[in-house]
Amino acid sequence: TRTPVNVTVTGAAGQIGYALLFRIASGQLLGADVPVKLRLLEIPQAVKAAEGTAMELDDCAFPLLAGIDIFDNPTDGFAGANVALLVGARPRTKGMERGDLLAANGGIFGPQGKAINDGAADDIRVLVVGNPANTNALIASAAAPDVPASRFTAMTRLDHNRAISQLSAKTGVSVSDIKKLTIWGNHSATQYPDIFHAEVAGKNAAEVVGDEKWLADDFIPTVAKRGAAIIEARGASSAASAANAAIDHVFDWVNGTPEGDWTSAAIPSDGSYGVAEGIISSFPVTSENGEWKIVQGLEINDFSRSRIDASVAELVEERDAVKELGLL
Ligand code: NDP
Repeated sequence: TRTPVNVTVTGAAGQIGYALLFRIASGQLLGADVPVKLRLLEIPQAVKAAEGTAMELDDCAFPLLAGIDIFDNPTDGFAGANVALLVGARPRTKGMERGDLLAANGGIFGPQGKAINDGAADDIRVLVVGNPANTNALIASAAAPDVPASRFTAMTRLDHNRAISQLSAKTGVSVSDIKKLTIWGNHSATQYPDIFHAEVAGKNAAEVVGDEKWLADDFIPTVAKRGAAIIEARGASSAASAANAAIDHVFDWVNGTPEGDWTSAAIPSDGSYGVAEGIISSFPVTSENGEWKIVQGLEINDFSRSRIDASVAELVEERDAVKELGLL
């Protein structure tokens, strides 16, 4: 039998954590034949709630779940971790300036990056979900100089999945026949969902839609503002769909993306497509042998160029702000 994979989840007692842990334990994160050990990291006030979730996980008697440990400090939480899902973050509260938000998250993701650097397994793979996710991932990576930067990623897969769903509804083509969609940039309102290279049942999506006004006035804002629409309808932020996207991201990273398709993930920029080197930006990516690769050679039209540039400019501003705060 295989040795269990250690999966650390922060913010384990939160909404996303609750939707995520049961799917990890059932084998959906890594594969139906891979046993997992869960390491739940929470702030001290939330440890009791995490214990409650652990009781429910026990009660599922998942055959692949080889153990659950709960921690209130990053050093223990990340010890031996092979996969880390950083979900817990400091949300923006009313009246909070961006600088305050970045500083508060620096206080979380800096120490977590250091603990990953010092104690995680050599094959550690990190997905940051907690917002501002791209910049939180950059902070964690900077605090982990011995871990390859490529192991720090942020989630834009929910935006990707939302875009596929919107395009499916518009064209009447099933989601499984939509391929090569891209989310560029920041996981924020400036993100750019790009259908110019996407395929709808084998045809170019932009040509099938044939309506740039729908793209600019409907599709892009609907995808970018979907989170707010869900809060409005549900009275709580998206949790199960965010957890689902985290599962998709890690599964594809570890197991590879399907031939003839790609997905979206925020990974460190190598300067491709004019995206400032070093920031963690969303790109069209494939995964092979456990490594993300940016899809190369796509032609970027003017419509896309201005939107990619705007989102990248926001990421550069966030990077400069955290540098100013001494977090990089
Ligand atoms: P959620 O589980 O709903 O959300 C957690 C984080 O995910 C938030 O930062 C949220 O950002 C982010 N997120 C990213 N994408 C999405 C999306 N599409 N929809 C919704 N959220 C998204 O938050 P809860 O408040 O329920 O739980 C957070 C938990 O984290 C708490 O239990 C808290 O104790 C814990 N925590 C743990 C820390 C640690 O381990 N050191 C540090 C800080 C908190 P946004 O707010 O922008 O929606």
